[in-house]
Amino acid sequence: GHAMLRVSGLDLDFGTPRGRAHALRNVGLTVAPGDIVGVVGESGSGKSTLAYAVMGLLADNAEIVDGTILFEGRDLLAMTPEERRALRGSRMSMVFQDPMTSLNPVRSIESQMIDVQHRQSGSRQARRRRAIEMMERVGIPDPHNRIRGYPHEFSGGMRQRICIAMALLVRPALLIADEPATALDATLEVQIIHLLKDLQREIGCSIVFVSHHLGTVAELCDRVAVMYAGEVVEYGDVREIFHTPGHPYTKALLECDPGRIPTRTRVLPTIPGEVPNLLDVPSACTFRTRCPHAFDRCAVELPALRATGTTQWARCHLLERTGDLPA
Ligand code: SF4
Ligand code: MG
Repeated sequence: GHAMLRVSGLDLDFGTPRGRAHALRNVGLTVAPGDIVGVVGESGSGKSTLAYAVMGLLADNAEIVDGTILFEGRDLLAMTPEERRALRGSRMSMVFQDPMTSLNPVRSIESQMIDVQHRQSGSRQARRRRAIEMMERVGIPDPHNRIRGYPHEFSGGMRQRICIAMALLVRPALLIADEPATALDATLEVQIIHLLKDLQREIGCSIVFVSHHLGTVAELCDRVAVMYAGEVVEYGDVREIFHTPGHPYTKALLECDPGRIPTRTRVLPTIPGEVPNLLDVPSACTFRTRCPHAFDRCAVELPALRATGTTQWARCHLLERTGDLPA
């Protein structure tokens, strides 16, 4: 079908005092209307950078070297900053890891929730009504009174609910959530995930959900892109990937996540070895410095993204040999 979002061949560098960090290399991602797509990886894998690139919120030292980002058929990278800003207030919105990224501490929730609807029709009263309804919908008690409050009067979990409400008041076709529940405790995390899932069903928007936790992604998402050191190493249907991971990195992530679905550990997966330095990424297969199966070819040739199932693709030379991973 028609893609809502299509990222292809995206290469992105950060200029640093020590040289160019290759934060994204040849990244592709497709999101269909109504899809929930997870982007998962360790910190430094490029998952947030990808999210910020789509939103047009990259830091000044970021440079998109190659690739395209099409959103509803429009080329985002050809747009002016004003056009991108307009899009962020209408067709796409974002929930950040830290709610205070999008909340102004010195303004009431009411004025912020009314402002976020500035591209929509209706009176101030109508917007206020929609804000209260949305607060109710995301589970904020007594919204008629609490809407007059300020961010510091809410707990972390409630603040994140307010941010989700604000992001949805934009009525986006695409919502990007960057680890929206990582800073919360496990119970709140479960609630936020279920809330996003319910709201997605009601509103029908697409969601890109960035997480370092495969268990959370499995619970929420239809599809998942697994990122490693700036590349998508595996992509496809969540259930298929959980059942039969195609890439040794995905397999390692799953093995560090023993309960699999739904684990609630706050501990990050630990895979032996370190995430490569993006100033000096290993040649050919970037995972080879940590891969238990690495062989000669892995150091000289970049593995292509290969189909390993009906709706699953992975980047590993082993797949060509055997079509499967060693047990
Ligand atoms: Fe491991 Fe080689 Fe596959 Fe890379 S290409 S994941 S090093 S086996
Ligand atoms: Mg991040």
